[in-house]
Amino acid sequence: MFPIAHIGITALIASLLSLSPLIAIIASQIPDLIDKPLYILGVFPSGRYIGHTLFAIIILTILIYLFSRKKILAISFCFGMLMHLLQDLPYFIPWFYPFKNYEFPKSSFQLNYTLELFLLDITGLTMLIIVYKNNRQLVAEILNLKNTSYEIYKKFCQTVYGKNSKNQFNKNKINKKL
Ligand SMILES: [Zn+2]
Repeated sequence: MFPIAHIGITALIASLLSLSPLIAIIASQIPDLIDKPLYILGVFPSGRYIGHTLFAIIILTILIYLFSRKKILAISFCFGMLMHLLQDLPYFIPWFYPFKNYEFPKSSFQLNYTLELFLLDITGLTMLIIVYKNNRQLVAEILNLKNTSYEIYKKFCQTVYGKNSKNQFNKNKINKKL
């Protein structure tokens, strides 16, 4: 399934389950972000490999919980990744890899954007708009993400520019305003 359809359906169900829609959306992209680039580079034998397994979901969920100590965040992440696998279900999924051996299909990348996929994406986009309009948490989370990225950028500037970090950071800010 294409990204917009994945995102829309995941956001809507996460919202209905009172989970974090933003974390679920990000997590729903993780399996393809792990497997597809490494498959294209010839490292993985299939575009659905270790990122499309229960093993990856469990390990990453535990890591997210250990780093954040927030149950809701970890559950939302787990839900997002699981949703990706369920939505990929019409095709091959190596659920129990590496504990079970699979014959990975050597299917090449098919980028035939059919009418069905287009309609799925439109449906996904509609769902995403509905969630965005009705779920205040998602709006708050996006703002939060913006602030967090700003903080990371600030810390990055301080690390890169060292002692004069504050001056440099303020200069950047003033330049931006100008
Ligand atoms: Zn996938």
